[in-house]
Amino acid sequence: MFNYDAAFREQIQQIKSEQRYRKFVNLKRVAGKFPFAYNGDEEITMWCINDYLGMSQHPEVLKAAQDSLNENGIGSGGTRNIGGNNSSIVQLEETIANLHGKDQALVFTSGYVSNEATLTSLAKIIPDVKFFSDELNHASIIAGIKNSGADKRVYKHLDMNDLEDQLSKEDINVPKIIVFESTYSMNGMVSPVREICALAKKYNAMTYIDEVHSVGLYGKRGAGIASMYGLGNKIDIIQGTLAKAYGVIGGYIAGNYHLIDSIRSVATGFIFTTSLPPVITDAANASIKHLQNSDEERKNHQESVALVKSELCKVGIKFVENNTHIIPIIIGDPDLTRKASELLLARHKIFIQYINFPTVAKKTERLRITPTPAHSKEMIKHLVEALLDVFKELNIK
Ligand code: PLP
Repeated sequence: MFNYDAAFREQIQQIKSEQRYRKFVNLKRVAGKFPFAYNGDEEITMWCINDYLGMSQHPEVLKAAQDSLNENGIGSGGTRNIGGNNSSIVQLEETIANLHGKDQALVFTSGYVSNEATLTSLAKIIPDVKFFSDELNHASIIAGIKNSGADKRVYKHLDMNDLEDQLSKEDINVPKIIVFESTYSMNGMVSPVREICALAKKYNAMTYIDEVHSVGLYGKRGAGIASMYGLGNKIDIIQGTLAKAYGVIGGYIAGNYHLIDSIRSVATGFIFTTSLPPVITDAANASIKHLQNSDEERKNHQESVALVKSELCKVGIKFVENNTHIIPIIIGDPDLTRKASELLLARHKIFIQYINFPTVAKKTERLRITPTPAHSKEMIKHLVEALLDVFKELNIK
């Protein structure tokens, strides 16, 4: 007879034998303490967090959530189709559409779901569509394309020659969608958005950009990288999250009226799940609006990033060079990366998650540092000293 438990045990054993078994640090975050958190009784500094600007604890965002909770209660009460539509989520979609200069937006329960549901639906709506997808695209994009059953071509990371080569091999009349991220979260590289838009025009393709690691952070009103380059109007579908720089939860797409209306009407990941509650959508709305009107967080964020990069350079710690806020230090060994992360926490009370397969390729395991505006000069000095100490102790060159 089949031994079910043995199957689960074997799976874990396999992952452990590849030294990529993950242990979670049980953190407690305390509003007003950002970028500190607690590991048991110990105060630690978060140096790897996607709450890039600390908006999850911003007074205006908390107030919006508190007021909304008192007014609306906690749950949304249903799916968007069956009782779960409300003025709060509609307002949030208006704010997002306005942010990106698009006709409409559609909110999902997470960024992952928005990618998966939208890409799957596009293949339902556009018969025989072919996806052209950057090889380092996020798991949610890969899942959406795979689940769509549509044909796909994977182009080399950021490689416009390869993308053009692949586009040129298709009949001009075949519908095509180029899917890419503006900022890649594990190496901090930025897609050549202008070149992608030019290729899309030349080969009559649609463009789909994942701005998950850019919204709130780049562009004058925080509308992301495409907007920063003045190319927002050249992108057909902008996808983003409310969970990272905006500090809340949820995902979305923005685009023209018919496109959004058709996704709304066919996406199972939108139709068959309870909508986000007003406490969340009001908080997200407050966060987006704050960052639309204030550049201070973005300016301080960039200063903090520049300082960490220059201090690392001074002491000779190598990191992946890029123009963004993500600072990856490649260690290239799963065991050593985990040990470095654990020692940073145990000895220096610094949290930097070790990143291993399948999030990144094997032999490129890394520490991923994300400075925020709340990290002071003293904290940055402490971080660099701690890294030097840990790298010396573990003989990491
Ligand atoms: N897209 C990218 C590029 C991501 O890195 C992530 C999450 O890390 C997502 C989508 C999913 O976003 P969310 O965390 O809102 O589900």
